[in-house]
Amino acid sequence: MKKTPSLSKFRRIVVKVGSSLLVDQTAGVIKRDWLNALADDLADLHRREADVLVVSSGSIALGRTVLKLPRGPLKLEDSQAAAAVGQIALARTWAEVLGDRQITAGQILVTFTDTEERRRYLNARETIGRLLDMRAVPVINENDTVATNEIRYGDNDRLGARVATMASADLLILLSDIDGLYTAPPHLDPEAKLLPVVQRITPEIEAMAGGAASEFSRGGMFTKIEAAKIATTGGAHMVIADGRVMNPIRRIADRKPCTWFLSPSTPMTARKKWIAGSLEPRGTVHLDEGAAKALTQGKSLLPAGVTRVEGLFARGDCVIIRDQRGAELGRGLIGYDADQAAQIVGRNSRDIESVLGAPGRAEMIHRDDMALAGE
Ligand code: GLU
Repeated sequence: MKKTPSLSKFRRIVVKVGSSLLVDQTAGVIKRDWLNALADDLADLHRREADVLVVSSGSIALGRTVLKLPRGPLKLEDSQAAAAVGQIALARTWAEVLGDRQITAGQILVTFTDTEERRRYLNARETIGRLLDMRAVPVINENDTVATNEIRYGDNDRLGARVATMASADLLILLSDIDGLYTAPPHLDPEAKLLPVVQRITPEIEAMAGGAASEFSRGGMFTKIEAAKIATTGGAHMVIADGRVMNPIRRIADRKPCTWFLSPSTPMTARKKWIAGSLEPRGTVHLDEGAAKALTQGKSLLPAGVTRVEGLFARGDCVIIRDQRGAELGRGLIGYDADQAAQIVGRNSRDIESVLGAPGRAEMIHRDDMALAGE
């Protein structure tokens, strides 16, 4: 059996914390001691230079207590109202516990469209990247107050996985009320065994998670397997670990039982594959000789090196990159809409603001958003 990875090798880690871990089920308040111990773990990761992102649930669970809503499933409007009330407390608590450890927290609330529509996705990705550059910890949740039933995640397992791929994280930790994936439901089958490593998500693995989604399985093993598919395709490993204990991340480092889902690639190669292969190109950018050379040396594409753009593309769309002879160099996600791109063609990045009347990004296509042939 393949050895499980060591926690110390990961550089960018998303930690998903579920409501049932964070919020006391009877009193409806935050479990402060548990959260403090988790924050110690996060501070340990942060101290050794890993980028840390938190995907935290709990807004609805907290808000419903304050609003004295009845137990049981809530109507959409009630859960939105509860989220509006609870999210304030949740964000404040995270800011406090991380602040106590000299870590700055930044709240990000996202909807399904923010992660699935490319323009918005790029914006969220850039904000997350900036926060991490400044060593802040993004604390992320779904924007439940505006999400409607048809277009929402509803569970933070899959949201966590999308955040992991969006942020090019190399690890997603799902802290759960179970210590991993079992060969059968452990409460029903005494023979059930915990799987320490899943190399590939096969139909057998999916069957172990209990088949199709239902109201009952939301946030259960089914959504965790869905999350594992998203994360591992995006180049991140994923681990399901028991969150009901104190210092749950330290326990993963101590190799206590948990389930690892291994990714065959890295965030960088997965992203390049996605850009190169899965998107329909909406336009073309033509480069001068200098820019083509700069690209092969690992540089971003600046407007100054572009001679011409073609197509009706929007910011975030995939475009073909061609050299001065028309040969395809690769593909990339463009940073500007077609009309704006046309206006700044050949211009120095310093002039972007005066040409467009608003500050823009220095790059036409950022290096990380580019897949060159042969990469
Ligand atoms: N976003 C929801 C909340 O904060 C939680 C979703 C989940 O539990 O996975 O209450």
